[in-house]
Amino acid sequence: MDFSFSEEEALFREELRDFLSKRVRPIVRKIDEEGIPRDLVKDMVKLGLWAMPVSEDVGGQKASFTLTAIAAEEVARADFSMATAVMFLLEASWGYVLDKYGKGIREEVLPKVVSGDWFLGIASTEPSGGSDVANLKTLARKEGDYYVIEGEKSYISGVGEAKKWGGGHLTLVRTSPEGHRGISMIYVPTDLEGVETSLISNSGRMGISTGIMRYQGVKVPVKNLIGEENKGFYYAMDGFNHARVLVSAACIGSAEAILEMGLNYAKDREAFGKKLKDHQAIAFEASELYTRLEMARLLTYKAAWMLDNEEKFRDQIPAYSAMAKLVGPQTAFDVIKSVMMWMGAYGYTKGALVEIAYRGIMSYLVGAEGAMNVMKMIISKRIFT
Ligand SMILES: Cc1cc2nc3c(=O)[nH]c(=O)nc-3n(C[C@H](O)[C@H](O)[C@H](O)COP(=O)(O)OP(=O)(O)OC[C@H]3O[C@@H](n4cnc5c(N)ncnc54)[C@H](O)[C@@H]3O)c2cc1C
Repeated sequence: MDFSFSEEEALFREELRDFLSKRVRPIVRKIDEEGIPRDLVKDMVKLGLWAMPVSEDVGGQKASFTLTAIAAEEVARADFSMATAVMFLLEASWGYVLDKYGKGIREEVLPKVVSGDWFLGIASTEPSGGSDVANLKTLARKEGDYYVIEGEKSYISGVGEAKKWGGGHLTLVRTSPEGHRGISMIYVPTDLEGVETSLISNSGRMGISTGIMRYQGVKVPVKNLIGEENKGFYYAMDGFNHARVLVSAACIGSAEAILEMGLNYAKDREAFGKKLKDHQAIAFEASELYTRLEMARLLTYKAAWMLDNEEKFRDQIPAYSAMAKLVGPQTAFDVIKSVMMWMGAYGYTKGALVEIAYRGIMSYLVGAEGAMNVMKMIISKRIFT
């Protein structure tokens, strides 16, 4: 057993941290208030960071998920609001799915995604609920060379970017009545006639948009079907298995940045005649959080390593990915909340920046990429078989 990263991975992390600390960390507040700058995406593209796991023939580099998780952690460590990391991991994981299953459309769409020109997202959740994916209602009926889509998706990341920049979403639709076996995945470009979009105002990670898409008789060419009809649920679960590991890595990155701030504060700030760090209540809590963060990190990289060895771990991947998603956001949130409290009144100010991470991480506790109870459902299914 070897827990160390390869020389290539360690160097990649080091160079990335250096770049991101100069290019991204100083503009975290700006990202939160004004959105991810277009030129930042282009700079990240130049470093090969966009949709990293996508194949070389469509412009990607077929990066491992271990390397992609390192990047997710580092991106969120710099933009701890999570917005840039969210966009990073959506392009990586749904780019991976489109690459793997989207034979009819991958060559048309992926080069534009890898170059950062188009946004690619996932549209699964509907107004009636997100957890019960098998029960989704958006309909697609085949008419000649087209699918005609009717329905609505809500709380979808990147609706604004796909509208403004171009691109679209891998959209889960019902093509047959049979529960999860009646779901297909179709790439729906946002600029198609009949796609009506609106934005939702979120409380965190505001650098990337969240919105609603209504489909009114949207005609999508049959070639936009991903893989086979009625297999979309399985492709989506494959995507979520990959995305959830990157989500956890990103949450850990954000928490690491905030913990570093908290430790520095505790080294400087005095109360009752000594530094905060010399109060055992603070030092012990810091030790526990540091340990929990390392535990979450180990589990997350183990899950990433399993994704890179899919053949061997196919049966275990859903549970490990769910475990990573269960532990990463919760641990990150607990770290960030404690740091805010160590900083006292200052921690509650916008100037301390901690609230940016607090709001951002919360998105992954309420449900983005799958609610916590859904993670527990996936894990319990594995352990009770
Ligand atoms: C910022 C943000 C961005 C998002 N981006 C996207 C996106 O890009 N694409 C997309 O498709 N979706 C996206 N979502 C939606 C996300 O996938 C859903 O929030 C999630 O799937 C949960 O669905 P829901 O919000 O409808 O909650 P519900 O499914 O209504 O669940 C509500 C609560 O009930 C719990 N619950 C549900 N079922 C059970 C059960 N059987 N047992 C116990 N508890 C249960 C859940 O854990 C949750 O706490 C995003 C969400 C957020 C917050």
